[in-house]
Amino acid sequence: MAFSRFAALALALAATSAAAAAECGPDKLGTSRIAEVGTKGGLLVGLKTYPAAIPLADHEVILTFDDGPDERTTPLVLKALADQCVRATFFAIGRKVEALPALARREVEEGHNVAHHTYTHPQPTLTFMTESAARADILKGMIAVERDAYGQDFSAGEPTDLGKLELHAPFFRFPGFADTADLRTWFADNNVAIFGTDLWASDWIPMTPGEELKLIMGRLEKAGRGMLLFHDNRPWTAAMMPAFLAELKKRGYRVVHVVAGPGTGPTVAAPPGWISETGRVTGALKPRFDNSAAPAPGPFAVKPAPVE
Ligand SMILES: [Zn+2]
Repeated sequence: MAFSRFAALALALAATSAAAAAECGPDKLGTSRIAEVGTKGGLLVGLKTYPAAIPLADHEVILTFDDGPDERTTPLVLKALADQCVRATFFAIGRKVEALPALARREVEEGHNVAHHTYTHPQPTLTFMTESAARADILKGMIAVERDAYGQDFSAGEPTDLGKLELHAPFFRFPGFADTADLRTWFADNNVAIFGTDLWASDWIPMTPGEELKLIMGRLEKAGRGMLLFHDNRPWTAAMMPAFLAELKKRGYRVVHVVAGPGTGPTVAAPPGWISETGRVTGALKPRFDNSAAPAPGPFAVKPAPVE
């Protein structure tokens, strides 16, 4: 992937971000800065799963949304973000992007990243698939995002290998945070960063917008900074988003937008005594089947346990 292309993209984003901030005025939250994250040789970030994070100053947050787009809730999230001039990263499901291409395209046009989260969001997780089936699902999802959100032309034939696909946002989040050594190596070999998250809103659990706001603000105040995970297909999250962004503004938080940059990182190491919270959940699951003919288990929901 060409450095110049990403440099140009970052410059363009910085310029539009500055323009947006000027347009929005000081009463809006705004996007305070663009953080370049190099993915060369792979990257593992997100303290819930990995012992490293994207460096953030006190009161800086990165906003991420999984499992969209959704025709009912994603437009509400996009409006809330636009109203406050903030940019986010959507880890989209390929088949949903294929079903709602205009919405995925709108995410890009409004300055957000559309990053990768598989094609089918397999249940229980990718770890229950063969290596080749898992790779195929991931690649199919990436192609859907590149074609429908970013407008890449695959009319001459879709790439059959990740190495032949140029990703606008080379960021992947594992469904259920359930990674495998094989897939981590595959992503590293192809310069794709693996994003966990530093904090989450536990919004896979139904709750009122008020309850969710209290939960996420409590966790954020304790941590002071971090990459936050929401789900843009959850009605309570979509309903909460305007109040949440207003609360960030009120409490002096600043939003950082992540884009792909040259090289690797930067990252910051987890504090001493760090443990993987998601590891105990995903570790309790059965490992990948060696034999592709083995019967598939489930389906059953696998969700990280909420932790205060
Ligand atoms: Zn997901």
